[in-house]
Amino acid sequence: MTTRRQFLVGGGAALAALGSGKMSLAQQPKRRPLVISTWNHGLASNERAWEILSQKGKAIDAVEAGVQVAEGDPKVSSVGYGGWPDREGNVTLDSCIMDETGNAGSVAFLQNFKHPVAVARKVMDETPHVMLVGEGARRFALEKGFKEEDLLTADSRAEWKKWLKNAEYKPWTPTTNPTHDTISMLALDQAGDLSGSCTTSGLAFKMHGRVGDSPIIGAALFVDNEVGAACATGVGEEVMKTVGSFLIVELMRQGMSPTDACREGVNRIIRKNPKWREVQVGYLAMDRHGQVGAFAIHPDFQYAVHDGNENLLIDAEFYTG
Ligand code: ASP
Repeated sequence: MTTRRQFLVGGGAALAALGSGKMSLAQQPKRRPLVISTWNHGLASNERAWEILSQKGKAIDAVEAGVQVAEGDPKVSSVGYGGWPDREGNVTLDSCIMDETGNAGSVAFLQNFKHPVAVARKVMDETPHVMLVGEGARRFALEKGFKEEDLLTADSRAEWKKWLKNAEYKPWTPTTNPTHDTISMLALDQAGDLSGSCTTSGLAFKMHGRVGDSPIIGAALFVDNEVGAACATGVGEEVMKTVGSFLIVELMRQGMSPTDACREGVNRIIRKNPKWREVQVGYLAMDRHGQVGAFAIHPDFQYAVHDGNENLLIDAEFYTG
């Protein structure tokens, strides 16, 4: 794995320029396959997705398998096993997946299953519905052979106990540990098809029953094979209120580059919410040619890009006024 800094030391101007948003649309190399995902844990997840993409596998299989790496990693405190709980100590999971035909599946408020994205895939493939929640999602998962297990690790229980001392709810501040870090992933396969996935334990210490953007098609994820795909991380309420990922794909349809479309998605939040300084949202987008872009409200957002040569962690551009 390579961090942005290691990469810059080692050369590789093309991807670095891409990450800084300084490369024009026409300059970006057209490549496929390609996979991108949110945050540092995207690097390991990209590696798994790449194993599938590099063998001419389908993007939908790559994005399902890729994010399961983050779901299964107890050190990732915002996704799946080891995710920080709600304020009552329950780990509740949201996830969705969308393929190149526009099919989608999603689960919300699911508890005790390590791989909600795999349940979302089953909803997509094996039911007439898009979304199952709570007890219905649980019964469906059991019917499909998924096993229940306790997802609250000793570390996340300790974080929750620490939080309970003050019980102060802050979805995001620039100075505290992030209480969000969903993994969202977009992939373009050898055949030129796009798919995406998203999976999270949601905002740490949220109210019991709170569902964020991550299982909402159009909010945290949208794929249109004719145009491109977009996905989100951060404070889901802001993403939902602006239907962020759908907006970004529609802006790309109108000719915007992935970076410009993500920037406009962020601007929309900033224009609507006077308290935007108190929230973080990061967007990622990929067009159907494999050109990628990202933009966030604040500077801490990083994303991972794997194009077969390198798996890089890149600092996203952010709002500067
Ligand atoms: N978007 C997620 C949510 O609001 C949080 C995250 O990005 O970790 O549930």
